[in-house]
Amino acid sequence: MTRPMSRVIVCRFGELFLKSGNRRRFEGVLHKNMRRAVAGIEGARVEPVHGRVFVHVPDDEAAWEAAARLQRVFGLVSVSIAAVTGADLEQITAAAVALADHERQIAHPTSFKVEARRTDKRFPHLSLDIARHVGGHIIAATGLGVDVHHPQLRVGIEVAKDRAFVYAGARAAPGGLPVGVSGRALLLLSGGIDSPVAGWLAAKRGLALDAIYFHSPPYIGEKSRDKVVTLGRQLAEWQALDSITVIGFTETQKRLREAGPPELAVVLYRRMMMRIADAIADERHADGLVTGENLGQVASQTIQNMTAIEAAARRVVLRPLVTYDKVDTVALARRIGTYDTSVLPFDDCCSLFVPRHPATAARVQDAERAESKLDVAAEIATAVASAERILLTPKTQTGALPVVD
Ligand code: ATP
Ligand code: MG
Repeated sequence: MTRPMSRVIVCRFGELFLKSGNRRRFEGVLHKNMRRAVAGIEGARVEPVHGRVFVHVPDDEAAWEAAARLQRVFGLVSVSIAAVTGADLEQITAAAVALADHERQIAHPTSFKVEARRTDKRFPHLSLDIARHVGGHIIAATGLGVDVHHPQLRVGIEVAKDRAFVYAGARAAPGGLPVGVSGRALLLLSGGIDSPVAGWLAAKRGLALDAIYFHSPPYIGEKSRDKVVTLGRQLAEWQALDSITVIGFTETQKRLREAGPPELAVVLYRRMMMRIADAIADERHADGLVTGENLGQVASQTIQNMTAIEAAARRVVLRPLVTYDKVDTVALARRIGTYDTSVLPFDDCCSLFVPRHPATAARVQDAERAESKLDVAAEIATAVASAERILLTPKTQTGALPVVD
């Protein structure tokens, strides 16, 4: 019979923010986000230790679940599931051999290295001696060779006062900065491939996000709206999104289309989106806007058009994907889990009322001339009044997750 053994997830964060003057604040936010990630896992407890964070869990099952969730916490670079043993060399050795053998069977490494350290210097063996002793037993039990420079498997041992942690291998976590340390922004989220990836990248740099989605019923169906909500929930599993505000945009789009020449339509829609987004950002206390725009991907996304669109915004417009090749965006969308939803075949509102030859170098004064035929302030007020906010709570995560580095 195997005795249930308590486990610890050893979580490592980047060197980068260790060194910055904001270290204390960054660590505080990271710990809060980690506690949020493991909320609901019974018995899970987050313990900051110097330079890392331990998450204690009662058993193996909780350990797999906690590790999978922690692999989605920005700011962490890797996690390892460790066995907890007594501070006793034979117990440590037995655990290390079992873990190394398990890794050998699932990951097929050919070489390994033992890295031991003692936080309790009263432990009667030096770190090097622990490594030698344990390494010898691993060689005997598994046939793996030692490579101290480029090991394919790292076996870690940490001896504390009355316990030791033993792990083999590490799983990648996304890195970046803890969500929230860079403030808050509003993501313009459509049902496409790009904007969810843009949101993920913005969150990875520490921005907490709310989203806004412009919906145009009945031309755009409810399935498109559902798709955006699904994308929102997928982002929420990375703690990358807190809510989606849905704006009814049909009537405004019609009035804009009638106000200007057809080739200007997309720029006029986008400028109005910026203004409405700014108004919602005021309510959310968001300091910037984020879009999935990408230079030259479609005719409307030229640098001149971006200038004309941005001129309508009061806040900085962040475009994390501006220089990405589509293949790179697609690869990232797959890795973060949004791709399959994004390619579901439903329309988005900017394919609605769109001319065959959109302007590629729209000028602000032409856009303003068209807009002068509308009551812009009233359009914004109506949009804000019609807004519906959907709060996102991540559903409990299960199963294997894509590895992101
Ligand atoms: P995506 O894949 O994100 O839809 P795209 O390559 O299709 O982007 P566009 O449709 O031109 O490009 O949209 C550019 C950006 O404008 C989007 O990435 C998104 O940030 C924003 N946007 C477009 N349509 C909407 C919408 N209906 N609601 C909210 N934001 C939108
Ligand atoms: Mg789109």
